[in-house]
Amino acid sequence: MNAAASSRTYTSPQRKNLAMCQHQPPCPSADSADREAAHLVAHHPEQGWSLLCNGVLLFEDTGELLPDGRIIAPCRPLATEHVVTAA
Ligand SMILES: [Zn+2]
Repeated sequence: MNAAASSRTYTSPQRKNLAMCQHQPPCPSADSADREAAHLVAHHPEQGWSLLCNGVLLFEDTGELLPDGRIIAPCRPLATEHVVTAA
């Protein structure tokens, strides 16, 4: 029963200003409304997500996962009014 000890090692050292971004000038933080303007550090279109240098995970459906674990719901609906028919 050492759950307390093991969970403690997993916490990130800082809640914001993660050391990932080394750009000058620094990119918007994950708390900023401009967070999507940060640089891409990983892009996996085949898996539908991208990682920004401020720690934000950006999903293909415009949803976001912030480094502190918060989830931002997609701001654009995937289902469009236009039904695309196969050619
Ligand atoms: Zn950056």
